[in-house]
Amino acid sequence: MRFSSFSGRTLLVSHIIAVYTVPMFHSFSQNDVVQVAEALLRWFEIHKRPLPWRQRYTPYEIWISEVMLQQTQMERGVSYFLRWMTRFPDVRSVAEAPEEEILRYWEGLGYYRRARFLHQAANIMLEQYDGTVPDSVEALSALPGIGEYTVAAILGIAYERNIVSVDANVERVFSRLLNVDSPVKKNPAASFIRKEARRLLPDGRARAYNQALMELGALICGKTPQCSLCPLSVWCVARKLGLERERPVSAAKTSIVPVSSVHGILICERNVLLFQRAPSGLWGNMWEFPGVLIKNETPEDALIQTMKNLGLPTEIIAPLGCVQHSYTNHKLTARFFRIDTVPHLSMKEISARLGDNIHRFVPWNKTEELAMPAHHRKMAERYFLRKHRIKAEQLPLQEGNHETHCLLD
Ligand code: SF4
Repeated sequence: MRFSSFSGRTLLVSHIIAVYTVPMFHSFSQNDVVQVAEALLRWFEIHKRPLPWRQRYTPYEIWISEVMLQQTQMERGVSYFLRWMTRFPDVRSVAEAPEEEILRYWEGLGYYRRARFLHQAANIMLEQYDGTVPDSVEALSALPGIGEYTVAAILGIAYERNIVSVDANVERVFSRLLNVDSPVKKNPAASFIRKEARRLLPDGRARAYNQALMELGALICGKTPQCSLCPLSVWCVARKLGLERERPVSAAKTSIVPVSSVHGILICERNVLLFQRAPSGLWGNMWEFPGVLIKNETPEDALIQTMKNLGLPTEIIAPLGCVQHSYTNHKLTARFFRIDTVPHLSMKEISARLGDNIHRFVPWNKTEELAMPAHHRKMAERYFLRKHRIKAEQLPLQEGNHETHCLLD
């Protein structure tokens, strides 16, 4: 792989050479570097969105917003951010909160490991940095859950250091501007994009520059680029070659693995039985309806056997439908059934049989206070909370609502 410099006039020649020799990335000329950056910053000044963390640019708010936005759409991210800041206005409030509450406020964003890391990092910041977000690459990189991108975003956007943060938006913009024809997440393209992004950074303007690139990728140079609105279109190589929709080049897709689970909703005296997952691993420490992953057996058999293993002979009362949920490279179909013990046991008798602290009866209208994986939350809302909002006393104690369709997450 070779890199070369070009100006607009030499574009065609460069392209012909590229076609007949080896794959090659274009690179901005020194003259273009200044003009592209200026055009980008001018555009950002006019078109930037009034996001809540753009009012004060505190390192804490930039940190939280960046972690949240890594996994959600902007509109949703803003509502989570505002809710979070009301409850956790600073590092200390995060550090001193129980993990369960952190997870509850994070619920729905997914990637719960990030919330746990965030909690751990806040504790370290409180102990070692007096409750402030540190301002060096070394200190930030040593914190749990803060990777290269977040370090760069905090230092560039909050502390205005001359450092660039390259996210998927920035990769997409540069892959088109410079017609990068190999997967952007892998070298040599990945390091080339970072090098070019760094070349364009005007001294002392990291805050505006980093956000401008991300904003351009989010608003103009998205999946379907709006080149007629783009302030950088005159420098865009992919557009000139008619290849903007072919960029960025993605790596081969990983295959999706389907998995199934089954869960029982066991209600006793207006309380529902929940199970707390182990602290480590997927959805660690979160609460869910007891159940099991299904292999070859029927969901009903798998559920009855699981409950029996807990010392609770059980019968199926009614199917409640299923929820589909995607995570990493898995697509989970979770089936839910209303169940009861045979013979019918009281809450006290069931608790005595379980004899552990990872199962707990919770008043059915209090499940929203506990952190739950998204598919369990969705079923809980369907089964309990909607009824609660309508009229609490109407909750059927023995009947399911017989939803049989799948709810898409
Ligand atoms: S001209 Fe089009 S493809 Fe090129 S950077 Fe602008 S929006 Fe993206």
